[in-house]
Amino acid sequence: MRSMRRAVCPGSFDPLHNGHLEIIARASNLFDEIIVAVSTNPAKRYRFSLDERLQMARETLSALRGITIEAMGEGLLADFCRRHGADAIVKGVRTSADLTFEVPMATMNRHLTGVETVFLAADPAYVHLSSTLLKEVGSLGGDISGFVPRSVYRRMTAPPAGRA
Ligand code: ADP
Repeated sequence: MRSMRRAVCPGSFDPLHNGHLEIIARASNLFDEIIVAVSTNPAKRYRFSLDERLQMARETLSALRGITIEAMGEGLLADFCRRHGADAIVKGVRTSADLTFEVPMATMNRHLTGVETVFLAADPAYVHLSSTLLKEVGSLGGDISGFVPRSVYRRMTAPPAGRA
């Protein structure tokens, strides 16, 4: 009998968008279990708090079988994978710039704990999406409703006082 295969989909998800969701869905076709690991880099400023980013991911994904959502906490992604018994990290790749950035990290993570990184080519329908671009367009009044899940859209269009 084949053992359960578990993978981690990491990211800051500030906020989660449809490009992320498509990669997570494809990853869940390849692995038995997916852990969506929500990261926080102390050197970065986020639009949404860790709690909000976790909530948006839970509201969107937790009804799906085999997907759990966790805060990555401080420390190395490779250590998170080892603690959670993950066989692989899954990353979406939009451009060659993504790969240039990701390949050294993948090599380092494999060196640290042996965890492999699986790269999935972004679907052409989502290749132009990034959280940064969506925040910018949304803040200037552009319609981003077709690019983010409903719970994210609600938060992105709520007046600041309405945001917990
Ligand atoms: P970061 O870790 O840089 O904060 P994000 O939270 O924006 O990254 O995204 C997490 C991961 O999702 C990225 O490392 C990348 O693998 C993937 N990703 C981001 N945007 C897209 C997209 N439009 N299509 C496919 N994959 C994407």
